[in-house]
Amino acid sequence: MDAQAEFDRLSGTFYVSGEYRASAGDVRSAVINPATGAKVGELAQVTLSEVDEVIAAANDAQKSWWALSGLERSELMHEVARTIKAIAPEVAEIMTRETGKPFKEGVDELSWSYTATDYYAELGRHCVGSNLGNTVPGQMHYTSKEPMGVVVIILPANFPIVLLMWEAAAALAAGNAVIVKPSEFSSITTLKFMEAFECLPDGLFQCVTGGAAVGNHLVSHRDTHMVGFTGSVPTGKAIARACADQFKPNLIEASGNDPFIVMPSADLATAARGVTFAAFINCGQVCTSAERIYVHADIYDEFAALVVAEVAKLRVGNGLDHVDIGPMEHAGERDRVERILARAIEQGARVAQGGGRPTNLPTELNGGCFFEPTVLVDVTPDMDILHGEIFGPLAPLCRVESFDEAIALANASEFGLGANIYTADIVEMDRASRELVAGMVWVNAPLLDNAAGPFGGRKMSGIGRQLGQEGLDTFRHTKLVMIDYVQSDQDFWWFPYSDAEAFVAE
Ligand code: NAD
Repeated sequence: MDAQAEFDRLSGTFYVSGEYRASAGDVRSAVINPATGAKVGELAQVTLSEVDEVIAAANDAQKSWWALSGLERSELMHEVARTIKAIAPEVAEIMTRETGKPFKEGVDELSWSYTATDYYAELGRHCVGSNLGNTVPGQMHYTSKEPMGVVVIILPANFPIVLLMWEAAAALAAGNAVIVKPSEFSSITTLKFMEAFECLPDGLFQCVTGGAAVGNHLVSHRDTHMVGFTGSVPTGKAIARACADQFKPNLIEASGNDPFIVMPSADLATAARGVTFAAFINCGQVCTSAERIYVHADIYDEFAALVVAEVAKLRVGNGLDHVDIGPMEHAGERDRVERILARAIEQGARVAQGGGRPTNLPTELNGGCFFEPTVLVDVTPDMDILHGEIFGPLAPLCRVESFDEAIALANASEFGLGANIYTADIVEMDRASRELVAGMVWVNAPLLDNAAGPFGGRKMSGIGRQLGQEGLDTFRHTKLVMIDYVQSDQDFWWFPYSDAEAFVAE
């Protein structure tokens, strides 16, 4: 594949009714490769009438999709999964050139996407309601699961494909049509990925590009029926409010600042590798990144030295080379992380590793948005860095005196997405799994996901769940049906009320 030719082909397009079309909109923004700073393409802000056309096509396609049998939908979804597998290397290369993430991480994302698609292809036809014990003899009481209609999925750039498919695979399996509005920083990747859906009915899976205006039009449109949003808290609130105007169901996956506790019984070498991965995968731009690392005082210095040694080994550079860490998504994000770091230093934190823009990169990467993976020590619970999302390559290590203090500090956050602990103590494992206020708790298994298990947050990290059985039900309605086949009289509660049941004064 000639990657630049693909960027040229996809620039300015959107994906409607099974084909790529150049948007008539004249607002274009540059697509920048964050590793080099070079412009590689253009993104269209599609017009609102183009969005209307996409929504109409989605409504038509959804009806024919739901008219298929469960087995036919399942077979087509398995074909989508096979296509995702086939196009994975090409999509991952585009993703690296557009978002900066190491190529291997892009390939991983694609593999998690086709496994989720295969999973929901089967789950979607497994159970579509349940028989209920009736309350009236001879009647049939049951529930049926029905699609919501047209599902809008609005996404950030950090995992443009897997976050899409964790929701879209469930939405399709439930019988819906999908319209995706990707981030402005990963739209070419998502457009390229639309090739995976060519086997589906035209209009069933579509992609429109643009920013808040396009997203808001999709959310507030009367002919879209459910919104799956992943992104920041302010945008999540705006979308939930817009949905509230129509009581439109919505799934909000917002920010996190996950704790990572290390106790003295832990295998410190493994925990140091674990936290290095959890803090720096995708350059720390992960909603479930380890952002508040609470280390027991008895092992703090030893553990900090081990983490510094691990982080010093990380190779930073262009994600298409043999590296562990790519650039940040864009320059504005690096500026934001630099401000968080400066404030932490001002408040007394000390840089033990990294701390600046790398100076040893090849000259062609001079325009890139690189920042060194950075370890901070002497971080105290009151510092600002522990009280907001970092979403970048900073790992602050905070000393704690006890397990109880670690749990209390871990829970002292407005967010509640994931939480990690490293320990060999089974009592601590049990207490942490019960006492940490989070959607996911990882005990010695940082950041793992499982398509069969639900993912999502508490508190300001969002509402609702994707993945697992819960993630399928997120995208379908439950209808209660009661049938009396023989039209029997129901005089046990109909008019006229009997004299025997009337009020009688004492
Ligand atoms: P963002 O909120 O700025 O943008 C997300 C998406 O919303 C983009 O596609 C954007 O164009 C769109 N958007 C913006 N305003 C809108 C509006 N008014 N109406 C409709 N759509 C609108 O988020 P971001 O900075 O791109 O993403 C980073 C955030 O995402 C981080 O906070 C991260 O933690 C979070 N995130 C959460 C999860 C999770 O599963 N909880 C996963 C990944 C990322």
